Amino acid sequence: MFKELKREAYEANVALPRHGLINLTFGNASAIDRSKAVFAIKPSGVDYVALKPDDMVIVDLEGRTVEGTLNPSSDTPTHRRLFLAFTAIGGVVHTHSSYATAFAQAGRPIPIFGTTHADYFSGEVPVTRKMTPEEVVGPYEWETGAVIVERMRSLKAEDCPGILVNRHAPFAWGPTAAKAVESAVAIECIAHMAFVSLQLAPGLTPIESELLNKHFKRKHGPGAYYGQAGR
Ligand SMILES: [Zn+2]
Repeated sequence: MFKELKREAYEANVALPRHGLINLTFGNASAIDRSKAVFAIKPSGVDYVALKPDDMVIVDLEGRTVEGTLNPSSDTPTHRRLFLAFTAIGGVVHTHSSYATAFAQAGRPIPIFGTTHADYFSGEVPVTRKMTPEEVVGPYEWETGAVIVERMRSLKAEDCPGILVNRHAPFAWGPTAAKAVESAVAIECIAHMAFVSLQLAPGLTPIESELLNKHFKRKHGPGAYYGQAGR
């Protein structure tokens, strides 16, 4: 069962090391089937090289394993929290990609300095507040999702396809698992560029609003014209 969904999650997971976003086994991707209210996610601790589509674990929105012999990723409750909160997303990706993680560890949002960033985000890549000791010793992975949802309260998931969890690393999402991978790649890329830009110009200010709006809106929303129609 769930062959297509497992394949979608598998393809997203194996794309992560291919894009250089994964060291060891730090990271995971999931894909949801909203009509069946289940998602497929990477099994816990399995090396990407050994991963097979059938290894994907099917979990429902109450957190119960529906199908699969392996344990789901330990980050499964975070994915579930995001799927419940952002009802238009189809996939979630978590990595510890180096530059984005450096911003997360420093507790700093990634400022929006240029058009590469503005192609994906309508503003900075936000950072969550630090988690409290109670949240860390409690249901940690669920609470990780909760601090993301809290920070996103004033933002739209489609305008802001990812976030940095303070002291931790990025989480990204999109309308499909493949698009969530693209968001994760973009976050790492713009984190790297922002880091270098700040070295070249420590007092650099954010991109001008007309240039930001031009780039964001030509790819997103009703007037979008970038790319090929229907693809
Ligand atoms: Zn992590």
